[in-house]
Amino acid sequence: MKVSRVVMKFGGSCLKSVNAFNEVLKAIRKYGKGSQLVLVPSAISGVTDQLISMAKLAASKKEFSGELNLLVERHIRMAREVLRRGGEMFIEKVEVMRGKLARALSRVMLEGLDDSFLAFIEGFGERLSGALLESFLSDNGFRVELVDAEDVIVTFNSYLNGLPLLDETAANVKERIAPLLEEGVHVVVPGFICKNADGKTAVLGRGGSDFTATILAYGLKDERSDVKVILWKDVDGLLTANPEYEERARLIRDISYAEAKELAFFGAKLLHPLCLIPAEKKSIPVEIRNFWKMDSDECTVISNVVEAKASVVKAVSGIDKVAMITVEGEAMVSRPGTAAKLFTIMGEENVNIKMISQSSSENNITLVIDLMDKDKAVEAIKRSNFFGSRWIKIHVEDDVGLVSVVGVGMKNTPGIAARVCSALGRRGINIRAIAQGSSELNITLVVSRKDLKEAVKAIHDEFKLSEG
Ligand code: ASP
Ligand code: MG
Repeated sequence: MKVSRVVMKFGGSCLKSVNAFNEVLKAIRKYGKGSQLVLVPSAISGVTDQLISMAKLAASKKEFSGELNLLVERHIRMAREVLRRGGEMFIEKVEVMRGKLARALSRVMLEGLDDSFLAFIEGFGERLSGALLESFLSDNGFRVELVDAEDVIVTFNSYLNGLPLLDETAANVKERIAPLLEEGVHVVVPGFICKNADGKTAVLGRGGSDFTATILAYGLKDERSDVKVILWKDVDGLLTANPEYEERARLIRDISYAEAKELAFFGAKLLHPLCLIPAEKKSIPVEIRNFWKMDSDECTVISNVVEAKASVVKAVSGIDKVAMITVEGEAMVSRPGTAAKLFTIMGEENVNIKMISQSSSENNITLVIDLMDKDKAVEAIKRSNFFGSRWIKIHVEDDVGLVSVVGVGMKNTPGIAARVCSALGRRGINIRAIAQGSSELNITLVVSRKDLKEAVKAIHDEFKLSEG
């Protein structure tokens, strides 16, 4: 028989009070029973933001020790509340961490803030919560060991948005984590933190503890074991629409990796955008569960089981803070490299492109980007030789929103785009631009921002998403 392994990730609000820590015990007893367990804590709510603001304070040569004291005191107070024995040991560890953080921040004051310093500082929230969770579990009679994430998760690139080397990482998981599990020890691995190709501390991007959990699961899955990931959050799971636009939005109980990835990329802030990739590679189911409804059966299960009975449209989501830029001119027609030039400019300015569309006459290209990037994007386009010339017109619209319609079933079903468009048409909503990825998993539309809510509702109704 295969052994069962569960990787549980606890979001920041799952560790913020005595009450929450007691729920952690419940989660372990109820969902970890009979399984080997790996526990991945995020930083306690708000801590990562606090660390980033300290780093910025230091960078602008302002005093950071007040903030640092608050952070340390918050963890010590938590320890005094949740730990019976072992509190002193934890507090000693916190003091060591305080020293390291203070030294890093002092160096930032002198040398300035670069990505390497920022990554090092950002990761302290998880170092603290990891140590606290370890102490708490051992206090409650579990055999538990804290494993340093840097000894396990290795990446090949940046400091702030690490991309893992999965197979190298898997080998580390087998060497450092699996033997402990085999002995019946629960393993705590702080989320978010990793090591990059230079051997330096790095992080996996904001919300990266989700990614930590699935990366570890990838390493744990082999012929002899079944692995599952549970992401404990403070919502029930993925919904059929943004609840602020559509109050009848319903929980999605089953969804494929492809669809859930689409939703994660597309602004559903609920999941780290890349976290489903390692899970999908080894068909590891990922459950999103509400930490505050431990006894509920309501949750979202992400797996590949659902592909077969896929409904046509799964979800519709709207994003409001976007801008649309169109560059237009006959000079662009049949001139290879135009799109590349435009994308290069955006890349150099670090502007993330959310949607692209080009008319087949090739005389225009439309980009949708985050509203906050609008000014720098437009400036850079105007500065460039080609797009800045008199031959090209640049239009900017900053009063738009994006609607994305997601579902694997759209792939082989003709007429979906027509239904989407006529649903909007019937409500008098004008479509400013439209794009469909060739994977046919989503259709993305640009509408006026004032119509966004109505557009989401129209599509939600058209595909009867509130009916389940
Ligand atoms: N603490 C990190 C963040 O706030 C990672 C995480 O919460 O998953 O982004
Ligand atoms: Mg967080």
